[in-house]
Amino acid sequence: MYRRVAIIGGGAAAAALLSELLERQPPQPLHIDWYTGGGTPARGVAYGTRSDRHLLNVRAASMSMFAGKPRGFLDFAQRGDHTIAGTDFLPRRLYGDYLEAEVTRALERAQADGHDVRVLPFAADAVVPEQDGVTVIHGEENTRVDAAVLALGSLPPQPLSGVSDAALASGQYVTEPWGFLAEAKPDARPLKVVLIGLGLTAVDVLLELATLWPNASFEAISRHGLLPEPHLENASAPADDGADLVEAMREAPEIRRWFHLLREAATHAADWRTVIDSLRPHTPSLWALLPKDERARFLRHARWAWERVRHRMAPQVMTALQALEHEGRLHRRCGRLQAADVAGEKLRLQVRHAHDVACDTVDADVVIQTVGLNTDVRRTQHALVRQLATNGHITPDPLGLGCMGTVEGRLQHDGSTWPHFYAIGTLLRGVLWESTAMPEIRQQARQLTDRLLDA
Ligand SMILES: Cc1cc2nc3c(=O)[nH]c(=O)nc-3n(C[C@H](O)[C@H](O)[C@H](O)COP(=O)(O)OP(=O)(O)OC[C@H]3O[C@@H](n4cnc5c(N)ncnc54)[C@H](O)[C@@H]3O)c2cc1C
Repeated sequence: MYRRVAIIGGGAAAAALLSELLERQPPQPLHIDWYTGGGTPARGVAYGTRSDRHLLNVRAASMSMFAGKPRGFLDFAQRGDHTIAGTDFLPRRLYGDYLEAEVTRALERAQADGHDVRVLPFAADAVVPEQDGVTVIHGEENTRVDAAVLALGSLPPQPLSGVSDAALASGQYVTEPWGFLAEAKPDARPLKVVLIGLGLTAVDVLLELATLWPNASFEAISRHGLLPEPHLENASAPADDGADLVEAMREAPEIRRWFHLLREAATHAADWRTVIDSLRPHTPSLWALLPKDERARFLRHARWAWERVRHRMAPQVMTALQALEHEGRLHRRCGRLQAADVAGEKLRLQVRHAHDVACDTVDADVVIQTVGLNTDVRRTQHALVRQLATNGHITPDPLGLGCMGTVEGRLQHDGSTWPHFYAIGTLLRGVLWESTAMPEIRQQARQLTDRLLDA
């Protein structure tokens, strides 16, 4: 068993791992250094929102942070309101309350049980993994631990190519939507707001700003101009466990074939969503079968379609967006951003539709880039990840999906696997593909705890 462990990251993945470790009541005292990076520990990016318009995109019954206590979040929510059902899509703020409450409980219990947990409200500056342990560096302090786990979430967003320095300097082109929403103030002026990207991040931004800025109109630009699909009000029971489909996919690991199989299965299902959901437990093993060129093909041609059906929004969110469209406040456009520059008081965008040679010009007061999670370790500004990559301590995934590692979460460098250096969550996207949402993260937390306590 490792006696000294560092957990680096302050979001839900770190909280799930810490709570799982302490929940097990390890027989010997543990020393855990938890580097939370600032902000409220446990909430991270997704659950730091204070807006009740920001809903979970997973039903309450599936959002426990513990793999062994599936009703965890639902019980917490029902203690505050017994009318809540397991099929409800609850505010992410409430989920943040749950994470915080569980972490507080775990820390109190740790103290009573004689474990030593230091909650360090700052970022780790550097990490040096070695064969017999890991050194974590913050400022002047070097701390040697038996094992370290990176729980850093996704990387800071980067501006799209074609966005001029002047556009970025103007403050009207926003690359980091969450910080922007947290600071945004009510505005009575008519504003034209353009969103680049039309996934769940865009949906959050639309709901929030449409209320905060009642005179604003919105144009959302994406390759296909389509919103994420909604969940149904009531969850459909799957017709079967999807075993035949998974078997057929295993036999032919090619993206074109897989989409053919998926479409076929969906046409025979009462609700296509059940087909998509049936793949979820099998996704890592299916992903592992795909050769690199097939993965690249998926990312180029099919990722957008997969994300739309896999990352669905709550039905009431869809209703709110449809209302915005009916009021004429939200327009969707197909196209790709080619350039963004300052034009007087506004930003001027050049947007090209796939089949056109010429670009359309779109003027906007504010442009918000909502293109989804950044996982590209090769080009990141994240100081710790850059330090690790520059020093060859981690190897970036060649397709920009986090870093190389094993399915158990051990990180790799130059083809070798570190014995005591791990990751959990989004950094493992290239290894597992499904590695960002709580249902996967809590499984990883459980398995990683087994490894940390059995070592
Ligand atoms: C808007 C949004 C909505 C979502 N909704 C859902 C949902 O409804 N259901 C679901 O299951 N999943 C949802 N997800 C997926 C979500 O990614 C996970 O549920 C979960 O929040 C991931 O947590 P994390 O800890 O991996 O990452 P994060 O929440 O990003 O946390 C990473 C933390 O690491 C810290 N950090 C960074 N660098 C350092 C450093 N050097 N040292 C120390 N700390 C550092 C950061 O400050 C941050 O606190 C959503 C994601 C987003 C972005």
